Amino acid sequence: MYDVIVVGGSISGLLAAREIARRGFSVLVLEEDAEIGTPEHCGGLVSIDALNSLGIEEYRLLSRIRYATISVLDTTISIDAESKNVITIDRRALDKHVAKQARRNGADMMLMCRARSFAVRDGYVKVDTNRGMMECKVLVDARGCSIPAGTGKGFLPSAQYEVDSACWIDADRVEVYIDQDKYPGFFAWIIPGGKERGRVGVSGKGINAMDRIEQFIAMKEGKYMHGSNTNCNGVNGNNGRCVTLRKVFAPIWIDGPRRPFVKDGRVVVVGDAAGQAKPTTAGGIYTSGMGGLLAGTTIADALANNNLAILNRYEDAWLDIFGKEFEKMLMLRRLFERLDNKAIERILNSVYPHIDEVSASGDFDFHSSALARMIMSIDGLRVVKAVLGSEFRRFLAGIAKV
Ligand SMILES: Cc1cc2nc3c(=O)[nH]c(=O)nc-3n(C[C@H](O)[C@H](O)[C@H](O)COP(=O)(O)OP(=O)(O)OC[C@H]3O[C@@H](n4cnc5c(N)ncnc54)[C@H](O)[C@@H]3O)c2cc1C
Repeated sequence: MYDVIVVGGSISGLLAAREIARRGFSVLVLEEDAEIGTPEHCGGLVSIDALNSLGIEEYRLLSRIRYATISVLDTTISIDAESKNVITIDRRALDKHVAKQARRNGADMMLMCRARSFAVRDGYVKVDTNRGMMECKVLVDARGCSIPAGTGKGFLPSAQYEVDSACWIDADRVEVYIDQDKYPGFFAWIIPGGKERGRVGVSGKGINAMDRIEQFIAMKEGKYMHGSNTNCNGVNGNNGRCVTLRKVFAPIWIDGPRRPFVKDGRVVVVGDAAGQAKPTTAGGIYTSGMGGLLAGTTIADALANNNLAILNRYEDAWLDIFGKEFEKMLMLRRLFERLDNKAIERILNSVYPHIDEVSASGDFDFHSSALARMIMSIDGLRVVKAVLGSEFRRFLAGIAKV
């Protein structure tokens, strides 16, 4: 019998456990996998500010990001990201570090323990696991995108390969490739993880993620071997062919918060399970991590005051920080889904003259204003008006309001 059981030992669940244990309450983390942080399904792209806000002082740095490029058809724009303090980290090591923080505070952990179901009964949450029945006063549901089974509306299939010996990866540049035919509603990405290595991924509505990622990598290799990038040719001894070290296939959630965050008075949903990943990029280390952290502190308050009604404050606290930003991101996502490649290319071209302004205005963690700024040029607005028609005014009013 624990005060709190956390189902899911990744960033959001571990941060919740760390905060609950820090206040002296008993907490057990159940993780179905055999190792914290593994299998890793993340690019590890995060800002240093975000790590500071999450109280994470130790991480394994892989790359510092100085540029971000966005490409569509024949157009590429490059955004200066030097001042944004964005890095890539070893995500497995990050989760292990937070697990250590939680453990030092007194949290218990059980690996290879799967919660099959849970239900509130007689003033407790009864948890049915492969190690038997367990009981707690409050349950934290931190199962990530596996709820419900990671399919259906709001989920996109994704594939990400960790590659090495890839001359076409710049160690300080994140690359985004938009193509609404190949990756409808999302994009392909390259996140560097050091010299010639990194994570290459694709996601999109209804795609066969494995086929698309193989094609994307073949395209990069072909371009490298036959294109302008010939100065690298032969450097790694395999003519630009990369080595794939790991393949990950996982759903991402792009539809925003799945409220309520507190169910049946005692079940607190955090992280990706609560839809706390960004609707624009599906990045969630910060936003989902903050969900875990805020839930943990609120649960500790509720237990200390013997008043579970306080639990609802967690949802308000998360929405206070991210509510408006996520609303804007969702509006921009719906617009993006309706644009074709040509329209996006026109918008990118219209950004050129203002690229310094866009680079300066963006905040990596709250990037909706930088994205909105991209479409606010005269030509950008013309494109949006043509696509949205009668909804144009409502869209502008909505963006301005939130
Ligand atoms: C391909 C890909 C790349 C990404 N890249 C980035 C990035 O670069 N930057 C970024 O910020 N975000 C990125 N994200 C998103 C980020 O990984 C997630 O937002 C974040 O991991 C969410 O954390 P979480 O704790 O909510 O859930 P998860 O990390 O999904 O963890 C859920 C945990 O619960 C466990 N679990 C599930 N069901 C049970 C059960 N029944 N019993 C016990 N344990 C269970 C799982 O094994 C897992 O450990 C990426 C996501 C994907 C798919």
